[in-house]
Amino acid sequence: MSSLPLYLGGEWRMGRGAPILTRNPHDNAALAEVSTADASDVGEAVARAQQAMAAPGWRTMLPHQRALILQRIAALIERDAERLAQLQRQDNGKPIHETRALVASAIGTFRYFAAACETLDGDVTPARGDYLSMSLYEPLGVVAAITPWNSPIASEAQKIAPALAAGNAVIVKPSELTPLLALELAKLATEAGLPEGLLSVLPGTGAITGAALVAHPGIRKVSFTGGTVTGRAIGRVAADKVMPVSLELGGKSPNIVFEDADIAQAINGVLFGIFSSQGQSCIAGSRIFVARGIYDRFVTELTRRTQALRIGNPAEPSTQIGPLISPEHLDKVNGYVRLAREEGGRILCGGSRPTDAALAAGNYFQPALVDGLSNACRTAREEIFGPVGVLLPFDGEDDLVRQANDSAYGLACGIWTIDYRRAWRIARAVDAGTVWINTYKLFSIATPFGGNKDSGLGREKALDGLRAYMRQKSLYWDMSGRPLPWAD
Ligand code: NDP
Repeated sequence: MSSLPLYLGGEWRMGRGAPILTRNPHDNAALAEVSTADASDVGEAVARAQQAMAAPGWRTMLPHQRALILQRIAALIERDAERLAQLQRQDNGKPIHETRALVASAIGTFRYFAAACETLDGDVTPARGDYLSMSLYEPLGVVAAITPWNSPIASEAQKIAPALAAGNAVIVKPSELTPLLALELAKLATEAGLPEGLLSVLPGTGAITGAALVAHPGIRKVSFTGGTVTGRAIGRVAADKVMPVSLELGGKSPNIVFEDADIAQAINGVLFGIFSSQGQSCIAGSRIFVARGIYDRFVTELTRRTQALRIGNPAEPSTQIGPLISPEHLDKVNGYVRLAREEGGRILCGGSRPTDAALAAGNYFQPALVDGLSNACRTAREEIFGPVGVLLPFDGEDDLVRQANDSAYGLACGIWTIDYRRAWRIARAVDAGTVWINTYKLFSIATPFGGNKDSGLGREKALDGLRAYMRQKSLYWDMSGRPLPWAD
């Protein structure tokens, strides 16, 4: 199998790193071998990006002209949507209806940031004398985007689109497990007429390619999505470089069902919250809090519905649960089910490999519900990043808020109740970046997203997500014509 080239500063060529093999999680068959970047390739990509930033073509391009290129990228993703969704399904193992949604999200992201960069204002600030004062936004320079394997194309679009809209150059390092969609995006960006050098896609490992990128003195910001341990390490390097960093990290989000919830709606919301994407989602509603008064009834029905979920080949439109990303990740998730047992938990359903012979070669795992544990157990505290939900009863709002907030993470939260005053109280009291009321995993590119506590730093999406790739410059402009008095 010959290696696919990487995309460095406008050129498709082989990197100097050791090639990586990406596999289809459905059967672990090799999908493609991909060339990777070593530190010298990273250095070259940064140098080319700096040249492209300095060239008049990009420096003087007006926002509406940049917007046109982003609109063209969106149109090309739309043209190739089905091909991209199928490729992502093979590279990452998500069911096809989910990968179609991720491609659609990428299209919307490019369109939104095209519109946002055309309309972003600077500020004329209130004058306190006979002068004009302004705050202008400028690009940061060359920025790095480092993405995980769970939502390729959507994660990359969420970083590439605002970075380019803001007038930067961007170097992307996708996860070594799912490099293919980022490379496809590079092809489409070239076809859309993005000037050479402004986008590089450098597959490789975190330890080599990712670390070289973060440490490079020419990189002026890192936008990172991934695990908290990696995020902390990147944050330390950023502190030394005095460089802004945006960190979208892990979660252990509470999904809360009150006695007065619409139960049919809550059951669907809890199932979707924890088991869509096989639970490999930073916002997975993995701590399922249920009011004690309805606990037994709710858990019985939830277990029955979990057992009825359709596990199978992600190519089938009816599949709800596909394979996990890799055999190593399957072992990790399995290890957490063992841990849950050791901690005294009861596995109400799932938690083992399916028996269907057609799925034997893939990384399939039956969705599991665990109860009988307290919120203090490791199973309830650590991010499993797989289809394992922990059921936790609660007694009243105070107990609920105390338990929900007793977590290192603060990414998301779901609330199921018909009492709007209660929804308001709990939404305000829970320490999370996003709260869903009677819904879950609902997203808009126009609404900021990000985590509190160990779940991250900064926000992506919306206008704040565009400004995060810019710095402010203040301008004072004398209107009086008088010499400054000090020198007289
Ligand atoms: P990792 O933190 O292991 O990796 C994320 C990315 O960082 C990968 O591209 C990885 O490369 C790279 N990387 C690893 N080490 C370094 C390093 N030292 N320097 C620079 N880059 C590095 O996360 P996973 O890929 O395992 O993704 C799962 C995690 O992502 C979960 O914790 C999940 O919660 C989080 N996540 C957060 C989201 C959010 O928006 N808050 C959304 C989606 C996921 P490589 O592939 O080679 O390891």
